[in-house]
Amino acid sequence: MSVLEIRDLHVSVETDAGSTPILNGVTLTIRTGETHAIMGPNGSGKSTLAYTIAGHPKYTVTGGAITLDGEDVLAMTVDARARAGLFLAMQYPVEIPGVTVTNFLRTAKTAIDGEAPAVRTWMKDVKQAMKNLRMDPKFAQRNVNEGFSGGEKKRHEILQLEVLKPSIAILDETDSGLDVDALKIVSEGVNRAKAATNLGVLLITHYTRILRYIRPDFVHVLVKGRVAEEGGPELAERLEEEGYDRYLDGEPEPS
Ligand code: ADP
Ligand code: MG
Ligand code: MG
Repeated sequence: MSVLEIRDLHVSVETDAGSTPILNGVTLTIRTGETHAIMGPNGSGKSTLAYTIAGHPKYTVTGGAITLDGEDVLAMTVDARARAGLFLAMQYPVEIPGVTVTNFLRTAKTAIDGEAPAVRTWMKDVKQAMKNLRMDPKFAQRNVNEGFSGGEKKRHEILQLEVLKPSIAILDETDSGLDVDALKIVSEGVNRAKAATNLGVLLITHYTRILRYIRPDFVHVLVKGRVAEEGGPELAERLEEEGYDRYLDGEPEPS
């Protein structure tokens, strides 16, 4: 059982133009076994929240706290956060030239566990996970995200989730750009991880579509860096009908 607690989080992004506040007091608690959907219009700070939890250097925490089982996450290095059981599937996964999927997964697993995985069971696990995600075995020898289609990038994120077995996963728009078949495959992967390891999920999405396949226990609407509303799955259904306009006081949604 793990608990990720985010309390009154304030975050600014550092750009050439200076420091701009993006998150203005976000409070959330995610326990293993729970699925939380974070929804909201473009530019509301969803990815900023994800990157801050993962430890991206561009984002500066100016107030509040993040703890995992009482331990100060903000004091941990990026590596230490992964070892503690946190996982981020990025909205825009990055290319790693010269590093194959196989080597990447093995290196990540070794770093997280503190020892290399046993060769035979490891290869079996990776092959099975790739099969579950309907990935061509040849994929294992390609360089990470190099020339991957949008759908392949998202599957590769879920492949990591399945073999690295974190306790809390943050999935940032893992649904974006997927057709219905790919969406189902990716959702099944998340649901398998939930069933196998009692994973806690922070599912960031702009659209309600993925929530038909991955049922959230809680829905939080993030608007302008604040949680504007919270509820159960019925809130997602309402957003599907009404959109985000009611939170934006007449302003059109930014694209
Ligand atoms: P969302 O994921 O909800 O679409 P983001 O967290 O990506 O929102 O962005 C929130 C706001 O912060 C936007 O106005 C965006 O332009 C700004 N922002 C986020 N990250 C950066 C960055 N690395 N550099 C400059 N601006 C950023
Ligand atoms: Mg966005
Ligand atoms: Mg985003």
